[in-house]
Amino acid sequence: MENEAFVYESWQARVVFGPGRVDSVGDETALLGAKRIFLIADRNAPGAETARRSLGTRLVGRWDEIAQHVPVELAERAGKAVESAAADCVVCLGGGSATGLGKAVVRKRPVPLVAVPTTYAGSEMTTVYGLTDGDRKVTGRDPNVRPKVVVYDPELTTGLPLAVTGPSAFNSLAHCVAALTAPDADPVTSALALEAVRHIHAGLPLVMAHPSDVEGRGRLQFGAFLAGTALAGTGTGLNHRICHVLGGLLGLPHADTHSVVLPHVVALNATALPRETARLAEALGAPGGDPAALLWDLADRNGIATDLASLGVRPEHLPVVAGRVEPRPNPRPVTADDIERLLEHALAGRRPDTA
Ligand code: NAD
Repeated sequence: MENEAFVYESWQARVVFGPGRVDSVGDETALLGAKRIFLIADRNAPGAETARRSLGTRLVGRWDEIAQHVPVELAERAGKAVESAAADCVVCLGGGSATGLGKAVVRKRPVPLVAVPTTYAGSEMTTVYGLTDGDRKVTGRDPNVRPKVVVYDPELTTGLPLAVTGPSAFNSLAHCVAALTAPDADPVTSALALEAVRHIHAGLPLVMAHPSDVEGRGRLQFGAFLAGTALAGTGTGLNHRICHVLGGLLGLPHADTHSVVLPHVVALNATALPRETARLAEALGAPGGDPAALLWDLADRNGIATDLASLGVRPEHLPVVAGRVEPRPNPRPVTADDIERLLEHALAGRRPDTA
């Protein structure tokens, strides 16, 4: 590790973190010089009213229609509403779907985006946007979609249903694995990813046992922040490509696919990445252990999905999904057949065993 040569690129974002901080949205937008602010938030999003109040008369429009995977036509309609309001700043408050809509809107209209995440999706820290046209989900990178300010308020997540909490935490863990195993990983992104794993691994059981525990929620959200930051410095991998096809083609919720698919992708690449595999096991609290099995156990112990069948996937879907997943790049060469076999294990919910 010492004297390892690397290039690390960072980018500027202002991150405001802490219980109750949603009331700083008004001040944060004022610091950006914004005078006409458009709020994108789920109708019942926790904190939306506080954010609205803190914006006062500078609030010029609101949008509460949010959908997973950001359908293109929804992004166009929301974008037109932002344009008609002549907004000079967009605030998106909610899960990855609200952040995704905010990103899609500012991608076409260059006004600053302020994100207030209420899940552990981590999208707020990345340049990645996703849009769905019919049954195809397209993702891309654009520096303009990156929020200028991110306000994390763990209190907003205390009511996040456990059925969303667990998968969302695994979405974050998937970011950690992607960052750790990316071809352009560097010591900084790896340190962020591993520290994120430690926080999520510690926070998840606390929150699953006591959902309104702000400390546990804070650990998950801090982990999500670090994981998103690590991912922003690298890129996604095979796990994300599989999950995006499952989401786009079969309409599965994005986060739910991660807890099922991630352990199998970790198992697939274990021999190609011995150092990263060992570091991951250590961060998951079991030095020398098998991180694929550790991740599967973490999901299983906490009542989080470990099989695609329970999400509605059927055997006949597998060849279609496998055929649509781009196999490259990946730490070891894989074919569509390898991906189909991986999906068979994931469909049945088999515990991976790389020992
Ligand atoms: P989501 O935003 O769709 O939210 C899931 C559900 O939880 C919704 O019904 C929402 O209303 C509800 N919810 C959200 N926060 C809540 C809270 N605090 N309390 C109560 N209910 C709450 O789900 P998600 O998993 O956060 O986001 C998924 C989307 O994000 C996908 O489209 C995915 O592709 C995208 N994503 C993008 C990136 C990126 O870097 N671009 C990263 C991760 C995820």
